This record gives sequence, C-alpha cells and structure tokens, in this order.
Amino acid sequence: MIRTRIAPSPTGEDLHIGNLYTALINWVFARKNKGKFIVRIEDTDRQRLVLGAEKQIIKTLKDYGLEADEDPKKGGPYSPYRQSERLAIYQKYAHLLVEKGFAYYCICSKEKLEKLRKEQQAKKQIPKYDGYCRNLNLSDTDLEKKKIPYVIRLKIPKDKKIIIKDLIRGQIIFNSNDLDDQVILKSDGYPTYHLAVVIDDHLMQVSHVIRAEEWLPSTPKHVLLYQAFGWPLPIFCHLPILRNPDRSK
Ligand code: GLU
Repeated sequence: MIRTRIAPSPTGEDLHIGNLYTALINWVFARKNKGKFIVRIEDTDRQRLVLGAEKQIIKTLKDYGLEADEDPKKGGPYSPYRQSERLAIYQKYAHLLVEKGFAYYCICSKEKLEKLRKEQQAKKQIPKYDGYCRNLNLSDTDLEKKKIPYVIRLKIPKDKKIIIKDLIRGQIIFNSNDLDDQVILKSDGYPTYHLAVVIDDHLMQVSHVIRAEEWLPSTPKHVLLYQAFGWPLPIFCHLPILRNPDRSK
C-alpha cells in the first residue's frame, strides 16, 4: 500500500507555494497508485505556533483539490494526526532509545551551551555539542527526584557511513562525524522534529517520504533513528525547491 504524507508546521499563516507543490506531488503519487495521502500537523514548535494556521492549511488544500484521506479533522486509522496530541508516544520511544544505548540524558544548561557555541564560532568551528553528558549515564528517575531538568540527545556513532537512497538523487553518503548529538526530546517533554517525524512516519505506515530537498541534511539523523528502533526505512524522495529566476527561494 502506497502511503504518502505532507507534514506542515503551523508556523505561518498558510501553506506557501513550496508546500503546495510538495502536497501536489504527494497527492498525485498516492492517487496514481491507489494509495492514501495523509496530512499530519507538526505543531511541536510551540513558540512559533500561529493560531488558526492549521485550519487554513486544511482549507487551502481543499480549495486546490488536494484533500487528504487522513488528517487531524477527518481522523483515520492512526489518529491523532496532530503531533501535540501524541506526546506520550514520543516520550515512550525517546526513553526506550536511552535504555537501548542509542540516546542519553543531558543536563547541560542553556548558558553553558551558549558559551560553548561562542567559543566554537570564535575558533571558526561548526557549532556542535561537546558530548559532556554522553558517558555520564544519568538516570531519569534520579534527575526527576532531584528536579533537575534534562533533555534527551541522540548518541551519534563515530566514524559511521550513513547511506541514503533517494528516489531522485540516487545514493548519497554521509559521515556520522559531521552530525551533532541532536536533542530529540526537550526538557518540556516535547519532541524535536527529528524524533517525531520518524516515529510518526513509521507508525502511520508512510511508504514514501516525499519532501523538499532542504530536509536532505536531516535525513542521515532519521536513518540512524530508524536503525536504532530496528524499523524498515521508507523510500525517500527529496524534491527540488521551487526558485525564482534569480535562484532565491
Ligand atoms: N514539519 C516539516 C515542515 O514543516 C516537515 C518536513 C518533512 O516533510 O519531513 O515542512
């Protein structure tokens, strides 16, 4: 069964033309293959949330004839389709990754991370977490008892080749040393995009992840997450970005 999706974040007033183009390709591919087209609202960035945006997104898709088979309003077999209503799922899986040794608890403060970033920038290095908490083996029960806020970070393996097969671009090889120990669960219990997108695409049985090429640099992190969970990879397809004649977005 072919299942495609778009996963817009309600952080602007409406979909932009690029989202609509991605939606069109996903819709057409699903229809052509007698599959399903899903709309999932990725509303985990609470600071940038725009009220009313979700309603407008669903309306715009309908106005352009790109109605979904499953979405937050209609529901479907993998409800809910709004990430803010799926927090317990992400939390469960994030803690599971720590248990399996693929992630770790981190208690570094914002101030400390800011200082580190500035030092790295001054040395013209790419800002990256220094791995301070990576081998501390902190325990969540202990931290919660002491009321110490923590995040969960992905433990990116060293010196690993990550191979991505993209339907448009073919094989792309990344080196894990270029990746940061990404935060996957924030201290407020909300997931970051990377964790939530992988869990949802897997649980919602998405067969083809068709999205804009700006997400390609995130894909090796997603592949590591799929591998850590022991889940099969979807087929990735990164679409070229629509550009103006001067090549701006
Ligand atoms: N929430 C992301 C966005 O705003 C989704 C990216 C993806 O399709 O994985 O576009």
